[in-house]
Amino acid sequence: MEGIEKLNKNNFEKVVFCNDKKVGLKAIIAVHDTTLGPGTGGVRFYPYSNEEDALEDVLRLSRGMTYKSAISHLPFGGGKSVIIGDPVQLKTEELLERFGEFINTLQGSYICAKDVGIGSQDLRVISRKTKHILGVEGTKNSSGDPSPATAFGVLQAIRALAKEVLGKLHLDGLSFAIQGVGSVGYDLVQSLHAEGAKLTICDVNKHAINRCLEKFSPKVVSSEAIYDVKCDFFVPCALGAVINSQTIPRFKCKVIAGAANNQLATPQDGYEITKRGIFYAPDYVINAGGIINIAEEVRGYSKSRAYDRVAHIYQTMIEIIHRSGKEKELPFIIADRMAEEIIEKAKKPKQKLA
Ligand code: NAD
Repeated sequence: MEGIEKLNKNNFEKVVFCNDKKVGLKAIIAVHDTTLGPGTGGVRFYPYSNEEDALEDVLRLSRGMTYKSAISHLPFGGGKSVIIGDPVQLKTEELLERFGEFINTLQGSYICAKDVGIGSQDLRVISRKTKHILGVEGTKNSSGDPSPATAFGVLQAIRALAKEVLGKLHLDGLSFAIQGVGSVGYDLVQSLHAEGAKLTICDVNKHAINRCLEKFSPKVVSSEAIYDVKCDFFVPCALGAVINSQTIPRFKCKVIAGAANNQLATPQDGYEITKRGIFYAPDYVINAGGIINIAEEVRGYSKSRAYDRVAHIYQTMIEIIHRSGKEKELPFIIADRMAEEIIEKAKKPKQKLA
């Protein structure tokens, strides 16, 4: 009953469970809203402690995709899927193929892509059984790894924030604390270094740190100390929920802008961080480069067209800041408002026809 209430509260269109004992597949697909197009979002393979946690995650992520695609003006709605279990132990080609068949049961209302626990090869296996899939690397028309496009989008947002919040037209001399230098974080370090920014990084993976040290000589701090670094920008590129009651009193930055999903542990933390005079840039707006890039596959992938669209994140960020000032509301609330306005506008012609 509690599960049904969750679906009603946020107007989910469809949530489907798959349980195939033969191949060990337990999965959930959630389609939140298809006003703008099919519910599109990655498949996450994760060892959830129970099904309730998996449901919670897929609902939250699927709704988040509705907002991310809407504000990015993509022809997609919100969708997401999870496969429950430890990928190291459970992942087989049979299971992934069965998951592909499961996607087909939604008849195109869900389009799958890559997420945590799913590699490029896994996505290729799923694509043997379904055509409702994007971002399959190594195939004709593939947009490839989305991370460079995500990093490019975050960089555009950082430029907009430097201009509007700090009054700086260039990034040289500005200081950045980057949490996580994996795929997206590394690309950002590279771009920021090229612009003459001062960089401090952390990562739990030594290899990731060394890769940056060899080329860009950033300052390195421990994963715990990164929150205390005095800087212009704190750039979360590792984990979600890093803006929380424990970290908020510690931040010594002016702006938080990074690629990580769901950076606010709770919406209230968005208000608390602002009280400390820190500008929080809505995560789903600025980390949308990857999905914008993948979306170009729909009409035949062109890298230059895709990156032109990703670059638009700059204008979106500026618009959010201006509206935030005019409407006297926090930027992350304005972002939600803008996404909802886009969805409502798309509904209007349909209402007239009815
Ligand atoms: P990644 O796994 O390649 O890199 C993450 C890095 O963070 C790794 O090097 C990891 O060792 C490090 N890390 C993990 N825990 C840490 C901790 N406690 N402290 C410091 N470092 C830690 O992932 P990615 O693709 O670069 O994505 C980074 C973030 O951006 C993720 O939250 C992801 O969900 C989000 N994101 C990525 C994309 C994309 O296109 N890759 C798109 C949208 C959002």
